[in-house]
Amino acid sequence: MRTGAHRWAFMVSLRYAEVAVDAAVAHSRTFSYSIPPRFTVEPGQLVWVPFGRRVLQGLVVELVDMPNVPETRDILQPVEPSPLIGPELLKLGRWISTHYRCSLFTAFAPLLPPGFADHVNSRITAVLGAESDAGDLKPESAAALAELSAKKTGLDEAEFTKLLGVNGNRELTRLLDKKLVQRGLTMPRPRVASKYEAFLLPPPEHTDIESDGPKLPARQEGLLAAVREQQAPYPTALANKEFGNGVGQALFSKGLVAMEWVRADAVAISKPREVAGRQQHTLTTPQAEALSNITEALNDPELQPRSFLLHGVTGSGKTEVYLRAIDQVVQQGRQAIFMVPEISLTPQTLERVNAWFPGRVAVMHSRLTSRQQFDRWWDIREGKYDVVVGPRSSLFAPLPDLGLIVVDEEHEWTYKQIETHPLYHARASALQLGRLTGSPVLMGSATPDVETYYAATRGWHTLLELPERVSAGPDRVSRLAQVQVCDMRQELREGNRSIFSRALAEGLKDCIAGGHQAILFLNRRGASSIVQCRDCGHVVTCRSCSVSLTYHSTQSSLLCHRCNRKTRMPTTCPDCKGGHIRQLGAGTQRVVEEVKKLLPGATVDRLDADATRSGQDTEDTMARLASGDTQVLVGTQMVAKGLDIPNVTLVGVVLADIGLYLPDFRAGERAFGLLCQVAGRAGRGEATGQVIVQTYNPEHYAIQAAASQNYRALYEYEIESRRELGNPPFNEIVHLVFQDPNDSQALRLATETGITLTLRAEAQGLADIEVIGPAPGMPSRIRGRYRWHLSLRGRRLLRFIEGMEFPPGCTVDVDPVHVL
Ligand code: ADP
Ligand code: ZN
Repeated sequence: MRTGAHRWAFMVSLRYAEVAVDAAVAHSRTFSYSIPPRFTVEPGQLVWVPFGRRVLQGLVVELVDMPNVPETRDILQPVEPSPLIGPELLKLGRWISTHYRCSLFTAFAPLLPPGFADHVNSRITAVLGAESDAGDLKPESAAALAELSAKKTGLDEAEFTKLLGVNGNRELTRLLDKKLVQRGLTMPRPRVASKYEAFLLPPPEHTDIESDGPKLPARQEGLLAAVREQQAPYPTALANKEFGNGVGQALFSKGLVAMEWVRADAVAISKPREVAGRQQHTLTTPQAEALSNITEALNDPELQPRSFLLHGVTGSGKTEVYLRAIDQVVQQGRQAIFMVPEISLTPQTLERVNAWFPGRVAVMHSRLTSRQQFDRWWDIREGKYDVVVGPRSSLFAPLPDLGLIVVDEEHEWTYKQIETHPLYHARASALQLGRLTGSPVLMGSATPDVETYYAATRGWHTLLELPERVSAGPDRVSRLAQVQVCDMRQELREGNRSIFSRALAEGLKDCIAGGHQAILFLNRRGASSIVQCRDCGHVVTCRSCSVSLTYHSTQSSLLCHRCNRKTRMPTTCPDCKGGHIRQLGAGTQRVVEEVKKLLPGATVDRLDADATRSGQDTEDTMARLASGDTQVLVGTQMVAKGLDIPNVTLVGVVLADIGLYLPDFRAGERAFGLLCQVAGRAGRGEATGQVIVQTYNPEHYAIQAAASQNYRALYEYEIESRRELGNPPFNEIVHLVFQDPNDSQALRLATETGITLTLRAEAQGLADIEVIGPAPGMPSRIRGRYRWHLSLRGRRLLRFIEGMEFPPGCTVDVDPVHVL
């Protein structure tokens, strides 16, 4: 805490501010401005500053007594009277800017109230007497100026620029320079009123209205009767509608009804479908142990490490541990962040959080309007919520006293923002925020990211294991589903050319005949681009890189996405010389047809990106499955998550090989995670579940590990191969993507940058830094822009590229989650 005297001294000596300006500038770069004596500013405050010929927003990063340039310009005015970003989040933003290499303002943007910029109101007014000075103006501008002068409150900037015609923006700058017009900027304040709903309550027992005093007007009489009749609080909105405005108010002022005010959004939230309330379970021993580890960290700020990896299969009681840990934080009067990969996929989790903390949970979902998000931001900041649940951006919620960060399904790559800066990873950023605030970070997963698990084995996180599914009572079968691997090469050898193995075909028939439901899963990512021999399972790989080659129909050739080597599509298998070599995979449409042939009369539904795009509603599809209408659901990744339908007893993975051979070093890990997740969909109810995994390569380590649902086996294999090949966590990766509408231009930029980087590494004697590529992206063209990429692999890469300028059109992605 700063004392008053300190604060005063502080203000007097620090006349300059280092400001992160909303312009395309290098990462971590600030600009010095002087603070005019008529106001004060503080770090974290948003201000208007002159920048070149423009006026821009900037964020005060720190106050200093010496500017870093000899001449400074003044800050024009604060946008907001108080800082918008607190000291810890300010530090987090600086870290993101440095680590993920984006401008400071870009890094701060997700920390500002959502839609803030959209709400800025810029009005142009005419300077008094301007019209008489307008002599040398273009006729169009003079007319616009005349129109403006006629308006007392001026015009919206956009409107006025339109009046100025072509090059309106430039013309506006001229008028501003000539001081013919001026710009006034206002910031909206959060809505404070009308966020409460009022309810009328029946009068206390002893109030006798019949015999006491004059008779009530009929409408008041009617409302009073209605209020008394209804056992629950009676909404005033309803009273106004039924009995007229002010009638409730009249009863209230006569003391005949009581009035209660409830926050409007609290009303919405505390209306969960079923009973709100906590289900108090007796914790299992592993749960209790896990929780006590976290409790220790919550009570002892010195305890290290302060991050935890909670590893347990679906249904092992992880969420229960999160909720208890959050509860302890709330008991201490602090708040928690509960991050989930995708909010729409976690309705059951949301209900449980709401039941534990009724009315105190802010759910950040994309369906909120920009205004609602904006209002919510302010409410969170004022401490009106104890728990913030949401996707990666909820990490930046302005909670007054953060006490815990939960990262559920920490292995999900949706935690990394791709495509738009800042390209941050929310898990890495959560660990950083945990360090800055002293808050423990609790990460949980059934299939942890190999890198997180490795960190835990090194003691950087405390590993907490929940080895078994919770047995929730005698009626609940808590065993994991049985997984059966079907060798499709064998099927072919024995004359079965169908896309279904005999086991899966039988399984489907039995399942439907028994009145149960089935899900067929198809991985689409990378489908039909890998070439595989159906006789021996061999996948065609690059001779120099040993990553799988992908098929490009345009050139009818095979391409290496690592070294760009091109090969002809073979007609026989290079390994067994068999003739059944072809691309992998069938689409969902085809699978649906096959199911209909196999099970005439069964109701078959489809869920994939194509079906969604053609207007089908995911929720409807899910609802039809939940209600039992759909007997077989065929779908892609979208069916893998979140579904919890007890009557689904069979899950078939049509071809596990797709995805397994993507030329990305994480392909095996992801295929494993996905298979485990899919397997977890079966047997959630009383009947035992069955999972059938079809593959041409049953020996593959990821399939083997998934079949036995053995995470350790996957991990051991994976970490050794990462060590051997020098992939993360043993090295860092920086991924550079070059995009251009012109293919050869994109390639040229990539090649030149590659040469520069190689020379730079040589000049610095850094033999262990590899420059990989250029290679075509996968897909090689997105939205009309060709993509080529380069990868840097080695240690201390940030230091290596420090100060380098990359060409425009090049995206620098630090710690990428996809290297394609
Ligand atoms: P996970 O998050 O690992 O999938 P959950 O916390 O959702 O696991 O637990 C799975 C199910 O078991 C839930 O229905 C939950 O209410 C219940 N459950 C969790 N812990 C216990 C416990 N200690 N005793 C009984 N039931 C429990
Ligand atoms: Zn290659």
